[in-house]
Amino acid sequence: MTVKKEVAAKIVRLLEKRYPEAFLALNFNNPLQLLVATILAAQCTDKRVNDVTKGLFKKYKKAEDFERVKINALEKDISSISFYRNKARNIKECCKIIVKKYGANVPSNLNELISLPGIGRKTANIILGNAFGKQAIAVDTHVQRVSTRLGLATSKNPDNVEKELCEVVPRDKWTKSCHLFQAHGRMICTAKNPSCPDCILFDLCEWKDKRKK
Ligand code: SF4
Repeated sequence: MTVKKEVAAKIVRLLEKRYPEAFLALNFNNPLQLLVATILAAQCTDKRVNDVTKGLFKKYKKAEDFERVKINALEKDISSISFYRNKARNIKECCKIIVKKYGANVPSNLNELISLPGIGRKTANIILGNAFGKQAIAVDTHVQRVSTRLGLATSKNPDNVEKELCEVVPRDKWTKSCHLFQAHGRMICTAKNPSCPDCILFDLCEWKDKRKK
């Protein structure tokens, strides 16, 4: 095992102890619900999305339901969400393709997922990792910031950060590590004024600007 892999494994172990309850904050019961929730979650808080999907998922249960509903009605149902018009269109378009091409089942591989409207690599990996139980690294702003500060990745491009992390993070921890980096990014390794002196990863962190103890 390379040194970097050993460090990555240690970081994940420490974060697992520190954040034993780190998990995906979006509520869902099946892949379709997570697909809809992740589309809604772009530039919107998870809390707001959960508030909206609570009623939405009672009303629309299958891909066919989202496909058939009039766009105006769906827009109204999600109107408290940012960019709701675009998101309503993407949800309907996605569901149309899912019904026509995949027998109403959300596809479970990356290339098929990212071919759907409004589904980027990050969203696809969230779905694969959390709804299908696969190992996948979804690079959001927290994962990007924390992993590059720690020295586990170097790129400014999220797709490349994903590749770099896949090289060093133990494979069975790919999905979990995202939740851990997110928790650490929210609580300690914040974008502004990170709490380095209180950080359990201080001695492992390579960030040249880390604040002194
Ligand atoms: S030492 Fe500072 S920069 Fe490094 S991981 Fe901890 S909080 Fe983030």
